[in-house]
Amino acid sequence: MMKEYDFSFRDIVEYAKDVVVVTKASPINEPGPEIVYVNKAFTELTGYSLAEVEGKSPRILQSDETDVNEKAKIRHALAHQSPVRVTLKNFSKFGDAYWLDLSILPLKNANGEVSHFVAIERDVTEQKDFELQLEVLTRTDHLTKILNRRAFYETSAQEFQRFKRKGTEYAMLMVDIDHFKQINDQYGHTIGDEAIKTIAKLCQEHSRSYDTVARMGGEEFCLLLPETDKETSYIIAEKLRKMIEAYTLKTAAGDIKMTVSIGVSVVKESDKEHSSIFQRVDKRMHEAKESSRNCVC
Ligand code: GH3
Ligand code: MG
Ligand code: MG
Repeated sequence: MMKEYDFSFRDIVEYAKDVVVVTKASPINEPGPEIVYVNKAFTELTGYSLAEVEGKSPRILQSDETDVNEKAKIRHALAHQSPVRVTLKNFSKFGDAYWLDLSILPLKNANGEVSHFVAIERDVTEQKDFELQLEVLTRTDHLTKILNRRAFYETSAQEFQRFKRKGTEYAMLMVDIDHFKQINDQYGHTIGDEAIKTIAKLCQEHSRSYDTVARMGGEEFCLLLPETDKETSYIIAEKLRKMIEAYTLKTAAGDIKMTVSIGVSVVKESDKEHSSIFQRVDKRMHEAKESSRNCVC
C-alpha cells in the first residue's frame, strides 16, 4: 500500500524538466501507440501541445534520420511489454533535430495488465553534439584537417574485412615528400607546415569520393583506393606524382617545388591482417626513394 502524501504526483509529472509521454499499450502498430498524455516539458521541447498530439503516435516526431536499430529496439520492447532505454534522434514541430535519452516502461492497470507505456525522455542534444565533435577530432589531423593515422587504420581494417567477405580488391598508396628536411631548413617550419598542407590538399583533390586520404604523420600520406586493381592504382599514383611535380607552392619566401615518392600495393589473398599491406606499401615507398625519388614503385 502506497503512503498518502499531501501533494499531487500529477503536478510532479506535469512540471518535471524531463519529458513524459504516456501512450496506450495497444495497438502498437500504426496508427498506434496512441498518445494519451504529455507533460509541459514535452510541449516546450517539441512545440506540440497535448491537444495537437492526443490520439497520435510518437512516430510523428521521428524521420528517416532516426536510427532504425534504435527504433527496432523500441518495437521489440513494446511487443514484449518490457522496459527499454535508447538514444534517439527526434524532430520538433518546426523540424529542429534533438537527441533524446529515452526510457520506456510498461504501466499496469488495477487488474495487473499492461494498459499503457510511459516514456521518460531527457534532451541530450548538447552532450550528443559534443560526443560527435569529439569523435571527429579524434579522427582528424590537426594540421591538415584530413583524416589521421588512427582513422585510416579503422578504414583499412573495415576494407580488409570487406575484401575477406566479398573479395572486393583494394589498393593503397603511401606518399612521402622528397627531401622535405631541406624545405624546413631553407624556409622554416611554418612554411614546411604549409607544404604539408598543400600535399594533403593535392592528395585529396586527386582522390575519388570513395577513396580515403590520411596524413599518417610527418610528411607522409596514405590513400586507400577501394575496388581498384594493380594497373589502375599505378595509373592513379603516377597521375598524383605528376600533379604534385607540376604544382608550384607560392609563399612569401618564394616559389617552392616539391616531388614525392609513392609506394603502391594491392591487397592479397594471402594477407593475414589488414596491416600486411602497410608493410608492402612502405617497402615500395622506400624502393622509390632508393631508385630515384619522384617516382612510383
Ligand atoms: P626523403 O626524401 O628521404 O623522404 O627525405 P626527407 O628529408 O623528406 O626525410 P624524412 O621523410 O625522413 O623527413 C621527415 C621530416 O619531416 C623530418 C621532420 O623534421 C619533418 N616534419 C615532420 N613533421 C613535421 C611537421 O608537422 N611540420 C614540419 N614543418 N615538418 C615536419
Ligand atoms: Mg620525406
Ligand atoms: Mg617521411
